[in-house]
Amino acid sequence: MDFEPVIGLEVHAQLATHSKIFCRCSTEFGKEPNHNTCPVCLGLPGALPVINRRAVEFAVMLGLATNCEIRLDSQFARKNYFYPDLPKSYQISQFDRPLCEHGWVDIEVKGETKRIGITRIHMEEDAGKLIHEGEDPNASYVDLNRAGIPLVEIVSEPDIRTSEEAKAYMEKIHSIVTYLEICNGDMEKGNLRCDANVSIRPNDKAPFGTRTETKNLNSFRHVQACIDYEIGRQIDVTLDGGKIIQQTRLWDANKKQSKAMRDKEDSHDYRYFPCPDLPVVDIDQNLIISLREKLPELPDDKKARFQEDYSLGHYDASVLVVSKEMANYFEETVKNGATAKTASNWITGDLSRFLNETKTSITESKVTPERLTGLIKLIEDGTISGKIAKSVFETMFETGKEALEIVENQGLKQVSDETQLREICDEIVRASPSQVQEYKAGKQKVFGFFVGQAMKQTKGQANPQVINQILKELLS
Ligand SMILES: [Zn+2]
Repeated sequence: MDFEPVIGLEVHAQLATHSKIFCRCSTEFGKEPNHNTCPVCLGLPGALPVINRRAVEFAVMLGLATNCEIRLDSQFARKNYFYPDLPKSYQISQFDRPLCEHGWVDIEVKGETKRIGITRIHMEEDAGKLIHEGEDPNASYVDLNRAGIPLVEIVSEPDIRTSEEAKAYMEKIHSIVTYLEICNGDMEKGNLRCDANVSIRPNDKAPFGTRTETKNLNSFRHVQACIDYEIGRQIDVTLDGGKIIQQTRLWDANKKQSKAMRDKEDSHDYRYFPCPDLPVVDIDQNLIISLREKLPELPDDKKARFQEDYSLGHYDASVLVVSKEMANYFEETVKNGATAKTASNWITGDLSRFLNETKTSITESKVTPERLTGLIKLIEDGTISGKIAKSVFETMFETGKEALEIVENQGLKQVSDETQLREICDEIVRASPSQVQEYKAGKQKVFGFFVGQAMKQTKGQANPQVINQILKELLS
């Protein structure tokens, strides 16, 4: 029996404002516990919230970038629940009048574009944090530095059908918020995290099944793994004749499985009502117009432009635009005089690999766009072979030296001198009579043997084109 998974994601993004959403406390990460607090975010009686204008502007920009309608009179509401990291016993969020609605983004999976609807984007405050590893092993500690950091919650339509699509969607949201520079996007710090709603149904015409929600997934990998796990679990339960229970689940990244945390609440359980402390968020059309004008070039537009301006393939362009920094790096390299396709190959290939392995960001790379261009030019003018270039690149990445300096110091220049190479080739041919015979008898593959020998004798520094040409002559 086949099942169709139905998936919707709720992505929380912390807005990169300097101060919190309803008070002037700093949002700086890593401060002493409860350092960034005041009566408002401590939830002291009588303290009144004041909305942060910048946070609203950031949220509107996100709405515009995801093709949403912007509500001109959105409203904050109290979401009532008790938890020790929420001192007011309610979270200020939005309910029936969210800031943005009815948007969409396009994702790409296996070369196919798919549109995922965005139901709504609303603003809310983040909660504090419980710390369970403190001086007293039996105590839990509360840190309210995070309480009141502005969040947007981006709720997708249940348009996602596979864990791969979910990952692509999450990556797309990450790209958009970081392009807009409204969120730092550091998932390890919880800047961007998501809850995954998953259900299954027997076929694509059947009504939606009962869904579960897995909370707080803070990496693309976890999103994908958790959804695969949940689909499998629901299929097993169903095939065993059991029923799926509407519940909230928690992902354990080490065990790669989730466990039930509590039965899931419905929205009426929270007794939402308009927050009497805050006025309606009155948004002016002129503000929307000016924010729209300020939107940067977004990933999809950049991708189209890269394909057009640099004649890049669809795949290359897609990889390059995932991060704004990588896209900028690429354009810098080309501006310095590197061929677009070669630059793209180096950036998406060796450079990305080294960055990943050393957990370095591209802006911190010792190989700057200028230096990469230097290396590419040395390959293109025949000074070094592509093979040598790989090892030069490695040294560049470690030391930050110029390609030319490394090539000169280590004597890596490509040997293109015909007389010199002809002598070497002559000798190889003379020393390998049986291979010569095989080749002349029609075994084309043996040609590779001769090239290999020549490369070996020149420590990989022979110009392969010249070698090929000489060997063909000698063996004809
Ligand atoms: Zn505060």
